[in-house]
Amino acid sequence: MIKKLLQKVFAKKTKATLAINQADSGLNTAKRIPAKVHKIDKSLISSAALKTCEGLQSKGFEAFIVGGAVRDLLMNYKPKDFDVATNATPEEVYKIFRRSRIIGKRFRLVHVLWGSETIEVSTFRGHHQADGDGKTTDSGRIIRDNIFGSLEEDAVRRDFTANALYYNAATEEVLDFHDGVADLKAGLLRMIGDPTTRYQEDPVRMLRAVRLSAKLGLKIEKNTQLPIHKLADLLHDVPPSRLFDEMLKLFLSGHAVESINALRAQHLHHGLLPLLDVVLEQPLGEKFVMLALKNTDNRILAGKSSNPSFLFATLLWHEVLKAWETYKSSHPPIPALYMAMNEIIDLQAKKLAIHNRFTATMKEIWAMQPRFEQRAGKRPYALLTHPRYRAGYDFLLLRCESGEMPLELGDWWTEFADASSERRTAMLLPDTGPKKHRRKRKKPAIHVESSTHE
Ligand code: ATP
Ligand code: MG
Repeated sequence: MIKKLLQKVFAKKTKATLAINQADSGLNTAKRIPAKVHKIDKSLISSAALKTCEGLQSKGFEAFIVGGAVRDLLMNYKPKDFDVATNATPEEVYKIFRRSRIIGKRFRLVHVLWGSETIEVSTFRGHHQADGDGKTTDSGRIIRDNIFGSLEEDAVRRDFTANALYYNAATEEVLDFHDGVADLKAGLLRMIGDPTTRYQEDPVRMLRAVRLSAKLGLKIEKNTQLPIHKLADLLHDVPPSRLFDEMLKLFLSGHAVESINALRAQHLHHGLLPLLDVVLEQPLGEKFVMLALKNTDNRILAGKSSNPSFLFATLLWHEVLKAWETYKSSHPPIPALYMAMNEIIDLQAKKLAIHNRFTATMKEIWAMQPRFEQRAGKRPYALLTHPRYRAGYDFLLLRCESGEMPLELGDWWTEFADASSERRTAMLLPDTGPKKHRRKRKKPAIHVESSTHE
């Protein structure tokens, strides 16, 4: 369906025939595509990105919107973020924008802040030189790469042809160095240069190929796809935190289910991506996890936000359940649950490189689950006021839908949350559980003592 849409969009755009001009000075390998041909809808371009380009150009620098944003604009999608490329050095960019900061080690970039929006500005990269400021590992992976270069060199360093498109906000032209527009038109995701070398330089590009093709409905071009299977093991070399970030993008792309199926088809799962192993190697949990991912996809495609903590809580829930069962044989249920949660967080969150900022919320969502089974007395009212009630409830619904809990339990909470106070009272179950005994407070020793002093 996406392919058809693409063809439609491009058919419209190319009616004016691709009046592509060879560029003059310095850009002799680029095709220049004028606004009347590419027909980018300017209302989809963030004003922060335009202001960033203007700021740089007004100081005499070159500046272009680049990468995924131009690709998405050509496909008539609203880009989720905007990147700018320039010939100004990070220090020069930093000096121009009052609210900016230099970040990154592997690639030094500048974040320019406009209200709540951040525009990432990178200086044109030059050709990688292993004996210069660039550094590679034995397998050819680039670990430091801060050589600046020309616009043309920058285009060669990008991954796919569709990602090497540059939009000049002043002239409204798109510069196309590697026939990215033609590839997009043909529905193809094609690696720039020799795919094997490019994957060796950065194995994460294999994951990007799979993710972007699923997200954009593009087919991975044959030569771009061929080496992936052979080179999959190179992912072992990639630092866990980088893998984590890429997998997070994949899970939150709105196309997680398709991406996971594609990773499977490309043999990019077993033992390579710990986060994915968790998803695919738990027969009991798979249904639950796939439901959760489908649910996340639907939310994201409907323009709603999705909390990564919720997603990780779903990915590890069946591990927690397993550990909980074990602890329950020697401890009361609630302390046993806490022990299980801590064990899984210690074991898995470290292995998967899940940031600490996510684990606290994951624990809250898990800890709330037994409380949903208490439907008598004052407890359900108290649960409704929990700050994470909504996440806990959504989590419960997934458990019901996957068959782990009775559907009736989820339905009860759906009704209870919105019911009138009379209806709520009528809905409460008889309190048959063990009465909570108030522990008799021992008289504090100080009283005893003070009485003796009287
Ligand atoms: P998304 O829509 O997910 O943001 P994107 O292509 O914009 O996709 P980013 O991670 O935002 O992805 O990267 C911005 C641009 O930087 C890319 O379009 C590409 O030109 C370049 N890029 C990113 N990662 C790599 C990489 N590993 N190798 C080469 N170029 C890359
Ligand atoms: Mg992007």
